[in-house]
Amino acid sequence: MPSSFDKYPLSKEILSALRQLDYRAPTPVQEKVIPEILAGRDVLAKSQTGSGKTASFGIPLCQLVQWDENKPQALVLAPTRELAIQVKEDIFHIGRYKRINVPVLFGRSPFYQQAHALRQKTHIVVGTPGRVLDHMERKTLDTSAIKYLVIDEADEMLNMGFLEQVKAIIAHLPGHPVTLLFSATMPKEIERLAKTYLRNPVRVEIKAKTITVDRIKQTCFCTEEAEKLRRLQEVLVLQNPDSCIVFCNTQEKVDTVHQGLTGSGIPCGKIHGGMEQDDRIAVMNQFRRGAFRYLVATDVAARGIDIDHVTHVVNYDMPRAKEHYVHRIGRTGRNGRKGTAVTFYTKAETQDAWDLQEYTNSRWFYVLPPSRELVERYRSAFEKTLARKPDFKPEKGAAFSDSITKIHINAGRKTKMRPVDVVGTICSIRGITSNDIGIIDVQNISTFVDILNSKGDIVLKALQTRPIKGRPRRVSRVDL
Ligand code: AMP
Repeated sequence: MPSSFDKYPLSKEILSALRQLDYRAPTPVQEKVIPEILAGRDVLAKSQTGSGKTASFGIPLCQLVQWDENKPQALVLAPTRELAIQVKEDIFHIGRYKRINVPVLFGRSPFYQQAHALRQKTHIVVGTPGRVLDHMERKTLDTSAIKYLVIDEADEMLNMGFLEQVKAIIAHLPGHPVTLLFSATMPKEIERLAKTYLRNPVRVEIKAKTITVDRIKQTCFCTEEAEKLRRLQEVLVLQNPDSCIVFCNTQEKVDTVHQGLTGSGIPCGKIHGGMEQDDRIAVMNQFRRGAFRYLVATDVAARGIDIDHVTHVVNYDMPRAKEHYVHRIGRTGRNGRKGTAVTFYTKAETQDAWDLQEYTNSRWFYVLPPSRELVERYRSAFEKTLARKPDFKPEKGAAFSDSITKIHINAGRKTKMRPVDVVGTICSIRGITSNDIGIIDVQNISTFVDILNSKGDIVLKALQTRPIKGRPRRVSRVDL
């Protein structure tokens, strides 16, 4: 079936990945950005998450990188680890049939594992500035073939104090890579950065309005700090959200609210910057897949997080920066769905609430705290929801499961396994050619291989007995 991405000069591998992902038509930011990147121009784009901006650079980058080149050709900088992982996943899926390797680099995660990943063939590297710089300085990231640089969420880089690191990274890059800068807002420092490093960029602006006011019902109510936890529980009972993120301003507050809810028998997850990286990733994955309904979060941890099914956002604390409000409520009402935002403000914050409405050019519904009777009337419906398991949400990668089988081979670097050994054996199977082999990821004691073109069963069966690198190996299917 043709899609309106066919009008771009994209390879059939990219077009079929877009079809698998169900991207039928380019979003407005993609309409503007894709042709410019394909034409090799620098881009300065003012656009929000939720607008499809990751794919707006992911699609052309996957098209432009040369598969044969072993060194990374594109570098994407993102402000948080969660965002870096999400960008990596999006690009990985777009480039899946072209076998684009996309390692992700972020702090508080073993350096040597990332260094190993960088030693394999890599095409597009995604990372947070600190760790990327670290790899550059320790020469584990070869930048000599980098032709494209993406600075994603540049305003957040600035807020988090990463701008100097971004500049240091640019200084490490050879010549002038094509540079693409995305930012939700354009403060002076970002304009200055763009002026210094972008050459005659195409300016693109996609209005934020599309993600906020239209599809999100914004309500608020006045409550004092000491009452917030009780108010939150009332909101949950009355609104009975299918899935909700509760935003707090500090890590301590996240811990307190999380404890308060779980202590009242309301299962929930939490995420903030003080948690171990592995725990953060696990929590986000569980929430994304619908393992629990309520997530208590700080801004940093949840920024830009792309989860389709969030129906409600509660601002437990008024956001400290106006842009945070837009980012927070933009976690709901995604992909054409409707959403609800509830903001708590204290008496002292009345003016801030007005300012926020003016800033977002929206009108909030003022709600009075509900009576006890009302809450009780709705409680049994809420408890039914609590007792019901949330719907399981498949991962994006599941879209590929019809045509791609991921297999696990029980051997890796430790036993000197190389991609060429795997290719050799698999290509010796009757009916299989190298075109049927996708991304090969050799890890310490494991190797993962994508088998394309619905040939997974044939390969799996043959590898049960056929030796790889001289020995039979345990080979099994991995769920996508
Ligand atoms: P982003 O703004 O990059 O966070 O993307 C928001 C969401 O839109 C992600 O889930 C993307 O997978 C999805 N998306 C991006 N481009 C398209 C498209 N052309 N059609 C449908 N969904 C898209």
